[in-house]
Amino acid sequence: MFSPRKVAVLGATGSVGKSGVEVIAGSHGRLAATVLTAHSRFELLVEQAQRLLPKVVVATDRKAADAFNWKGLPKNVELVTGSDGLLQAVRSEHVDVVLAGIVGSAGLRSVLAALEAGKTVALANKETLVSAGPLVSKLLATSPGKLLPVDSEHSALFQAMQCGQREEIARVILTASGGPFRTWPLEQLRQVTVDEALAHPTWDMGPKITIDSATMMNKALEIIEARWLFDLPAEKIDVMIHPQSIVHSLVEFIDGSIIAQMSPPDMRLPIQYALEYPHRQPGVSDRLDWKKAFRLEFEPPDRQRFPAIALGFDCARAGGTSGAVLNAANEAAVQAFLEGELHFTEIVPACRSILEAHPFESAPTLERLLELDAWARQEVHSWVCA
Ligand code: NAD
Ligand code: MG
Repeated sequence: MFSPRKVAVLGATGSVGKSGVEVIAGSHGRLAATVLTAHSRFELLVEQAQRLLPKVVVATDRKAADAFNWKGLPKNVELVTGSDGLLQAVRSEHVDVVLAGIVGSAGLRSVLAALEAGKTVALANKETLVSAGPLVSKLLATSPGKLLPVDSEHSALFQAMQCGQREEIARVILTASGGPFRTWPLEQLRQVTVDEALAHPTWDMGPKITIDSATMMNKALEIIEARWLFDLPAEKIDVMIHPQSIVHSLVEFIDGSIIAQMSPPDMRLPIQYALEYPHRQPGVSDRLDWKKAFRLEFEPPDRQRFPAIALGFDCARAGGTSGAVLNAANEAAVQAFLEGELHFTEIVPACRSILEAHPFESAPTLERLLELDAWARQEVHSWVCA
């Protein structure tokens, strides 16, 4: 008998989560949302529960959940609160696939728990691989859990890689829109305001990744993500600016053939590909309009104006604790910028100096990574107060 694939949408009220909900609602019953989680915006979580009737909703911020009036939640939907509730929910028998759409290293433990429990993780939360790449790789080698990319560039690489063998890959090329400041001179970048940095030209995303796109730290994180996801050395990873965000990334094979994946900038497609994998379905995402002329442009990134790119390569090469420190420093620095405590052009230098000052270890435990995560955040705080 046909039974739907059971999906837990983590961070359902965010940009990725909302797209995931649309993909599931438009799947003609092939996918069912059995768990929905959120840290805030519980009114939206209740609306989503009314629409999709999951078994469980998880409100991870327990204090806020206790203060919220849940009377709109349908009768047979169970409410669970707190981050332990999140871990229980991802491990439950009601879940086949976990769409990891929580932002930042707050998403780490739920991804590890899902993999340990043998679930398939559709990974949007790149910070997990950036911070704990070595641990995730080890886990994947020893548990039945699987990881599928949702980040559009990595989904593109995953799709393009299916045209050849692993050892036939010469290199992968991650595309980047270049963000809102692609053509701005360095002097002007110093004056960037929060509103300017939050206005992305091609993608509509949550605030943290939108700032990461403006500094190009997002591409740095994606270089590290590609290193762990595909077990590629940094030397085989390249970045090209592609302002239209239609070619989502490319794989160059040893014979010189280059395979690209193209589609309009719409996260619903890579989300659907991961949730329905290995099948393709008509789906709900936008299509390219072949009746209109359009151009595709590519140029190498300006590494002087966007020093984040070099940081990404450095961490992909170093491995160990470097990704966790870079990620935590960046999360704290972005927060400080959003709160008006740090200039836009200070985000990346703050990350570099904290990275260089940290006591590097090549094979850290999870506890050590979490300690260094906390340390790096504190260092940003001292940077801000200095
Ligand atoms: P967002 O800010 O829009 O949503 C974040 C979600 O996580 C919300 O549902 C929020 O309630 C939840 N959340 C926040 N803090 C939490 C915590 N401490 N514990 C539990 N839940 C928490 O973010 P987003 O843009 O959807 O991004 C989510 C992840 O996907 C990020 O890692 C981002 O890098 C990645 N990603 C996003 C896009 C995109 O188009 N938005 C594309 C590629 C990758
Ligand atoms: Mg991306």
